[in-house]
Amino acid sequence: MFTFVSGNRTLDFIGTVKSRRAEFDDLLTSPAELGKWLTEAGILDTAPEVGADTLRRATRLREAAWHLALAETDGADLPAADLRIVNELAHGEPIRATLNPDGTVRRTGTAEQALTEIARDAIELFGGADHARIRECGRPECTRLYIDTSRGGSRRWCDMTICGNRAKSAAFRARQS
Ligand SMILES: [Zn+2]
Repeated sequence: MFTFVSGNRTLDFIGTVKSRRAEFDDLLTSPAELGKWLTEAGILDTAPEVGADTLRRATRLREAAWHLALAETDGADLPAADLRIVNELAHGEPIRATLNPDGTVRRTGTAEQALTEIARDAIELFGGADHARIRECGRPECTRLYIDTSRGGSRRWCDMTICGNRAKSAAFRARQS
């Protein structure tokens, strides 16, 4: 199951690897799963055809975005190799968005175009004001990233119900033993 808890599409995409430290838990296990993610993320209305090549490119984009996010949280320069991957994909053809009379938006395109959309999002994230608010979840086993929009920057978890409660009950058990 995919989660969208990061408050940003690029970070949610990075979050399709649920955990990165203890064990690498990748939710994009097949081309079809990527197609599903693209619709659940609201990038496309219907799942596109996804080939093995596109899944590989998506994974490369995701890991490049992860490295850029790490550089951000470490206050380091953005690594050139990862920038190249993101920039190249961002220069592709975007998806087609159509505004309907009832105010809804129809989003159509190929999986490749959807990757371009994610890469453009990544540029806006790392090049925009929110880059300074990127945080990693406070539960050590979780490596999800999110935008901390709380006043005073006090948010500690990617998601209170997923990680906040688990971390709290772990601390409680530690005190009891
Ligand atoms: Zn978490």
